[in-house]
Amino acid sequence: MTYVIAEPCIEEKNTACVDVCPVNCIRSDGGPQYYIDPVGCIDCGSCVPVCPVSAIFPLEKLPKKWKHYGESNKSFYQREMSHACKSK
Ligand code: SF4
Repeated sequence: MTYVIAEPCIEEKNTACVDVCPVNCIRSDGGPQYYIDPVGCIDCGSCVPVCPVSAIFPLEKLPKKWKHYGESNKSFYQREMSHACKSK
């Protein structure tokens, strides 16, 4: 399981989740929302109650209308990895 940040984060971008994540796996690139690294997330759930707009869900409990956010969180980190490789 992993946690996913969905639509309510867009334009909100409250940093409470970033501050509580014990493994520093919530990041953004200056775009409209934050994303959770599905590989780094240890499923502790600490970010869920601190989000003021309830944007964070376990992957399995993502509302149907936001299912694609599971993929967009994952692809954010795949893009980040490919940038890191190209800049070496
Ligand atoms: Fe970080 Fe825990 Fe939230 Fe995963 S569930 S993103 S490890 S705070």
